[in-house]
Amino acid sequence: MNRVTALLIGLILIAGCAHHRDRLSVLKEGRWIDLTWSFDEQSVYWPTNIPVRHETVFEGMNDKGYYYSSFKFSAEEHGGTHFDAPIHFAKGANSVEKVPVEQLVGEGVVVDVTAKAAVDRDYQVSIEDFQSWEEKNGRIPDGAIVLLNTGFAQYYPDKLKYTGTMLAGAAGVENLHFPGLHPDAAKWLVDQRKIKAVGLDTPSIDFGQSKDFMSHRILYARNLTAYENLANLNSLPAKGSWIIALPMKIRGGSGAPLRIVALIVKP
Ligand SMILES: [Zn+2]
Repeated sequence: MNRVTALLIGLILIAGCAHHRDRLSVLKEGRWIDLTWSFDEQSVYWPTNIPVRHETVFEGMNDKGYYYSSFKFSAEEHGGTHFDAPIHFAKGANSVEKVPVEQLVGEGVVVDVTAKAAVDRDYQVSIEDFQSWEEKNGRIPDGAIVLLNTGFAQYYPDKLKYTGTMLAGAAGVENLHFPGLHPDAAKWLVDQRKIKAVGLDTPSIDFGQSKDFMSHRILYARNLTAYENLANLNSLPAKGSWIIALPMKIRGGSGAPLRIVALIVKP
């Protein structure tokens, strides 16, 4: 090997290492935001659901002389911060364990409708909201995870302020008032853009007064997923975040408790 070849190989190796470091630095230097509410007795569930249960099996010093704790957890699929699998409203579509991992991660697009939802609890996010996001930020990228910031997270877990009612059962469902995604906008997203999921900071993708859950049906018929009861969306930029949404892998599940985080990539 002559000196020139050795030098070239050296340069290629250095360039390779530098490139490798750069790629990792996106993860190392980014800022992580938790978009998940803790599960506890305050967690918001649908009025017809049983609230989450977390009971003590054992807690304290055991007979062998060391501390030990263990609890049992039981919950309906669709409460607190949770994931909706397509099968929730689409026969034969993916249940939780069948959703590909690639569909659980993606670029975050955060659409801020807090001003509109502040004056109208029944606000439905519109095609115009997406179009005005695009005017400022460019086209919604392929593979995006679209997050709707309605500002309602500020009320969580105050059931009355967050859902519009303290009532349980059918009477509770009748009196739900919170913002959601308009079915026309859901249709626009699935027809005009190539997104992976929609998430928001209310109990349901369809607004509280929806009777036919049309936005759910439109999204899930195309095997998209949704995240409900999200936290901290106001900490995210309109673009430039990476979302990781990992539901509990329930075989056959129509939904599941969700741990969801965002990485804000350093510009
Ligand atoms: Zn759900």
